Formats: sequence, C-alpha cells, structure tokens
Amino acid sequence: MIFTTRFAPSPTGPLHLGHAYSALLAHDMARAAKGVFLLRIEDIDSTRARPVWERQILDDLTWLGLTWDAPPVRQSDRLPAYLDALQTLWARGLIYPCTCTRRDIAAAASAPQEGAEPALGPDGLVYPGTCRQTAGRTGRMPEQAVLRLDMHAALAAIGDTGIRFTETGRSGATQPAPVTATAPALESTVGDIVLSRRDFPGSYHLSVVLDDAAQQITHVIRGEDLFDATPIHVVLQRLLGLPTPVYHHHALIRDDTGKRLAKRDDARAIATYRAEGATPQDIRRMVGLT
Ligand code: GLU
Repeated sequence: MIFTTRFAPSPTGPLHLGHAYSALLAHDMARAAKGVFLLRIEDIDSTRARPVWERQILDDLTWLGLTWDAPPVRQSDRLPAYLDALQTLWARGLIYPCTCTRRDIAAAASAPQEGAEPALGPDGLVYPGTCRQTAGRTGRMPEQAVLRLDMHAALAAIGDTGIRFTETGRSGATQPAPVTATAPALESTVGDIVLSRRDFPGSYHLSVVLDDAAQQITHVIRGEDLFDATPIHVVLQRLLGLPTPVYHHHALIRDDTGKRLAKRDDARAIATYRAEGATPQDIRRMVGLT
C-alpha cells in the first residue's frame, strides 16, 4: 500500500509554528517515502471555522513549499458519510441520546463516589453515564441531539481483549512500538464520548476516523496532544470495519518556558513571520527541520 498521510488543520485561526511543523513533517515523510500527501479542512465547528482562515492557511502552506496530491477535503461536505455511520451505530444500539448540560456532567462527576476524584479523559470530564440507562435506543435516530457512544457495549461488540495500534513517533522512538489499551481502562478513562453534536451530525472523533479511511490514510502524523484520543479512533475503526493506520505522534513545539505555542496568546502566526521577511527555510530551522 502506498504511504499516504495528511495534514488536517481546523480553520479557526492562523497557521502558527506548531501547525507548520506538523504539516512540514508529514509532507517530508510522504515525499521521502515517495508517497501521497493530502489536506483535510476540519471545519465542523461552524461557530469558529472561517473561510478567510482556510484561505490564509492554504496560502501559508504553499509559501512553505508544500504541495498536495488531490484537492483538499472539507469536513463540512462530508455530512452524508457521518450520518450513515451514525445510523449504523444507532441500528446496533451502540449510541444513545444525551440531554445533560455541562453543568449536569460536572455535578454528577464530582458527586462523591467512593472518594474517587472525577476522571479527566481526552474530551474533559469522563461522562458519568447519567443518560446511558434511561435514554431510548429504538425507533428513529434523533436529529439535532447529542449522541454518545456506549463504550461498554462498543467494547463488547468488538469482542476483543484490547485495542492496539502501532506508534512510530513519541519520545524519539526509532522502532515502531505497539500501543495497547484495555477495555476497563477505556471505560474508566475515556467513557461514553460524544459522536454527534446538537449542531452537527458528527464530532471530531467520528469525522477524523471516517475521513482518514475515505482518504485511504496509511500513516497519521500529528501532535502528541492527540495521542490519548487514538484508542478512541481505533475503537471506532473496529466498530465500523475500517483499517487502522500507523500513528506517528510528534512532540509539540514549545516556547522557552515549555508552554505549548498553540496555547500561548501571542503564538506567532506564519503570516507574521512572512510579513517580517522570514523565508520558508527560516521557518524550517525554527521548528528544528533542515
Ligand atoms: N484538526 C486537528 C487540529 O487542528 C487535527 C486532527 C488530526 O490530525 O487528527 O488539531
């Protein structure tokens, strides 16, 4: 299978150094493997995604010297595929509607349970399961509703002892390393994650899995902040009969104090460096690429 990877920016702001590193690394790896490099615009958050940011990001990527081998895929064009997968999961009784507000979840999660601290997962507080037993799961799939994956039922449906993927990044690993997650760990540290939102029939986890499969991605190259989300993606791949790519989670670009650039208020945009006369080679040097 031909090495195929992608860069998947969310057009909710300018491309900064951290994104540029991710894009350049994925592009370099694809070109070194004589493989395919693709783009995907992750614009499902309609409250924050803007066409102007998308244009700016594509312009910055071109300026950096990147080329992509097919027109970019836009998640906002992929609703039918997301709905199809939700219908499949609904028909199997694996997702259920949830009416909890953030406040309800925080209150239920912090209610004293054998003295345990509320668990924090990749999406924030692990859902305490309030609607799991009570929500109806038959009839038509509700529209414009929050739908959660019943993680316990999902893992039982997969019928496996663990979730596995191959990691080639992280801590400068030189050998591909197998990563496993067990069913009890997934239930307690991830829980019933959201697969469909009230305003959009999908969620980051569902879309990314379906899109990686549709774009025939063999290698996912992305920041290590998404490492903990990967077992969720493998669960969904197994449920939906999709292949699991190889994952390469790279270190994040940090400032001198160790703070993540993306989280810093003054994260420097590539557009700012360009305006100040930096060259693409300067940017490569700044992120540690030659
Ligand atoms: N859209 C995500 C981001 O900008 C990246 C998702 C991914 O690479 O899986 O952080």
